[in-house]
Amino acid sequence: MNNGIHVPFLDLVTPHRQYEEDFVAIFRTALNRAGFIGGPMVSDFERAFAQFCGTQHCIGVANGTDALRFALIAAGVRTGDVVVTVPNTFIATTEAISQAGALPKFVDVDERTYNMDPQKLRQYFEQECRVDPSDGRLYDRGTRRPVSAIVPVHLYGQMADMDPILEQAEKYRLLVIEDACQAHGAEYYSKKEGKWRTAGSIGVAAAFSFYPGKNLGACGEAGAVTTNNSACAETVSMLRDHGQSKKYYHRLEGYNGRLDAIQAGILNAKLAHLRIWNEQRRLNAKRYLDLLAPLADGLGLPFEPSWSRAVYHLFVVRSRNRDLLREQLEAAQIGTGIHYPIPLHLQEAYLHLGHKHGDFPVAEKVSAEILSLPMYPQLTEEQQQAVASRIMECVNSSVPAIR
Ligand SMILES: *Cc1c(COP(=O)(O)O)cnc(C)c1O
Repeated sequence: MNNGIHVPFLDLVTPHRQYEEDFVAIFRTALNRAGFIGGPMVSDFERAFAQFCGTQHCIGVANGTDALRFALIAAGVRTGDVVVTVPNTFIATTEAISQAGALPKFVDVDERTYNMDPQKLRQYFEQECRVDPSDGRLYDRGTRRPVSAIVPVHLYGQMADMDPILEQAEKYRLLVIEDACQAHGAEYYSKKEGKWRTAGSIGVAAAFSFYPGKNLGACGEAGAVTTNNSACAETVSMLRDHGQSKKYYHRLEGYNGRLDAIQAGILNAKLAHLRIWNEQRRLNAKRYLDLLAPLADGLGLPFEPSWSRAVYHLFVVRSRNRDLLREQLEAAQIGTGIHYPIPLHLQEAYLHLGHKHGDFPVAEKVSAEILSLPMYPQLTEEQQQAVASRIMECVNSSVPAIR
């Protein structure tokens, strides 16, 4: 047994208690200034986060979904366009695409990384699209709509294989908008450029979420767009604030999607610790991999290609007997999660897209097998041992059930 050690899926209490004084001081500063929206706390954080990502601009917004929607619109996605993404992501990815007026189109994922499979992307373009010679644009043959953008999702804290995705984007002149909502600080080695690139610095724009459970989390809702494109940055800052270029001068119709000053202050204080926290997550991932290695045939473990430095927002294993394993872990007071149990193309919300079982076989298969284990910087060695030994017991006792 696990000696009664309780291992919650997430621990958001410990890190906040540790820096409670800092966060209270930020709240006090905001109270003293009555600066709640915008102002120096927001611009200080934006500057610091842009630097962290290696981009010229960062625009703080209200949440990750707004960040995606504003990034898509500002980058140039238009009503009626097709935007390509993956089916195994949080629904916010496709909500943002639809709400920007576009139609989400899925391509399947790679079975080892769970991220967009560049081959499947290429196949979609070659087999289901055509370039119209009159305007040189790529059209989806089924819907006759123009394809304007690709949204790779850096799922679980690991970046998608960006070189071949960018190659396709260049070939067909498509925009690339990164969904970096789970990947603060993740890195990708671009062979083409011969250097490491940080998540959020590769596409024309990228979206981040600072939902409390993310690697960098606010004490409430928050998000940001990063970009190296000044025009895109300017449009995002207007979109978040009712399309204003200055107060009551509306260049366009926007949204109420601003970043709260107190959240920005807290995020800036936490950003100072993010590299260390990500490093602790990587060490915890390594420890899990060592502890679970003996089960390699019975349990699928995360795969980090040589071109990836993942930040392990989630540590996801795979089992054919996932539901039983989950039940047994929960019974031993070990919290788990499933990210995500139903691929988007099979969600009720997307019935109108007309998909069926079998359309994206990899996403479907993995959704039935994945299990997210407890993963956070403060996770202790003792807790990880408890998780691993409980998994070993389950897998070994139910041979061949779990295998
Ligand atoms: C969290 C998340 C979002 C949305 O962020 P919110 O801040 O909750 O709006 C979008 N995409 C992915 C992949 C996410 O994990």
